[in-house]
Amino acid sequence: MRDTERTSVPDETAQAWRRLVAAARRTAEEGLVVGTSGNLSVRVGGTVLVTPSGVPYDRLGPGDVLGVDLDGRRVLGTAEPTSELPLHLAVYRATGAGAVVHTHAVHATAVSTLADELPPVHYMTAALGGPVRVAPYATYGTPELAAAAVEALRDRTACLLRNHGTVAFGEDLDQAYDRTAQLEWMCRLWLLASSVPGRSPSLLTPAQLASTAERLRHYGRPAEG
Ligand code: 13P
Ligand code: ZN
Repeated sequence: MRDTERTSVPDETAQAWRRLVAAARRTAEEGLVVGTSGNLSVRVGGTVLVTPSGVPYDRLGPGDVLGVDLDGRRVLGTAEPTSELPLHLAVYRATGAGAVVHTHAVHATAVSTLADELPPVHYMTAALGGPVRVAPYATYGTPELAAAAVEALRDRTACLLRNHGTVAFGEDLDQAYDRTAQLEWMCRLWLLASSVPGRSPSLLTPAQLASTAERLRHYGRPAEG
């Protein structure tokens, strides 16, 4: 987009948009999406910055900032917001999310066609709130899909969308992105382990997951005292 078309926005918003575009490009670079699949959003106060629908991420620049309010009314920019806007807004309404990431990561999408939840093959299951559920299939971009995802996200920070992909949220974009990448990695792990003929992977018990969840509360933080 030409500089003359740029929307003038506060620094905080401009910076959040730059980070959103960088994260969106990363989803393509790291193979979590192909082409214009997937979408991301981040909340800045009462505004949700969202990726536009059907626009390759490498074409997005600082001047393309696009924002809606929590009712989905466009308040910044001119592009068409992602078709999954109902999904993003429903997650903000239902949780305290600061950012939402949706991808079509291939291993996660494969698992969404095979199971009703991702079996707890790894302790990082606990970092997502427990075994990740698969939301029933609904057409992309619909309120039905948004409602199914919110239901599957109960007490979780990520879910799978049947025959479609992933949804993860976080306090910020880094956390939502990291949860997406962890989920895709765990799906890959389960597919790999469960593909050994005649064997099936050992799974963690609820008690083992609870113990991990407790320990993860301090992960990456300096010890107190
Ligand atoms: P958008 O290009 O409208 O964001 O759609 C991509 C997608 O993943 C729909 O589920
Ligand atoms: Zn999608």
